[in-house]
Amino acid sequence: MKKEFAVIGLGRFGSSVCKELFRLGHDVLAIDQDEEKVQDVLTIATHTAIANATDEKALQSLGIRNFEYVVVAIGDDIQSSILCTLLLKELGVKKVWAKAQSYYHQRVLEKIGADRVVRPERDMGMRMAHHLVSENIVDYIELSSEYSILELKATDKLHQRSLIDLDIRAKYGCTVLGIKKMDELNISPKPTDHVEKGDILIVLGHNRDLKKFEDTGM
Ligand code: ATP
Repeated sequence: MKKEFAVIGLGRFGSSVCKELFRLGHDVLAIDQDEEKVQDVLTIATHTAIANATDEKALQSLGIRNFEYVVVAIGDDIQSSILCTLLLKELGVKKVWAKAQSYYHQRVLEKIGADRVVRPERDMGMRMAHHLVSENIVDYIELSSEYSILELKATDKLHQRSLIDLDIRAKYGCTVLGIKKMDELNISPKPTDHVEKGDILIVLGHNRDLKKFEDTGM
């Protein structure tokens, strides 16, 4: 279903969010106070606006409260990022996702009502570290400070064994959400489905249990 998004701040992060949302077929209003930045996204946004996102009247005249999701992608100027997020929540925007530069920036954004705060550099750094420490980890998504989803490459140990035989949930407390085989993705694996070496297992669990599975079960 087509959704309406607004992206405020068209640096590398904001313009990348804008481009991908537009590519996925959604309506995107791209906003920046810098005219050049707005010019750069003319072909990857549905609408554009040059505006100062800390100006309440400017936000109102853009009809910002009608957008289901607004992404605040202002990073360096922490004051603007905070003020803009605050105004958006006060104006009644349902979902405000914001980018933070630091832990304290994140905490302030959460306190003033941001619905989701991301820290791209930190998150990417963590993902890269997981790739580096284990060759079997293909990808890593942190769901909370305790729970994650890992994509793990099946080793010899799992080769030609069924999920019922591996009994991953009982032994490790982790749930196999899916199995990727070449281009094919099985998103509701049955207990009788078999794993081959090289398949990618998509596994959800507590970080402690995922680590145990990765260390001893793979
Ligand atoms: P990047 O995503 O490139 O890492 P960044 O984190 O360094 O970006 P900034 O460069 O601080 O983020 O801001 C991104 C964009 O936000 C810039 O294009 C800037 O012009 C825009 N911006 C900053 N403050 C405002 C504001 N008050 N209103 C509208 N746009 C703003």
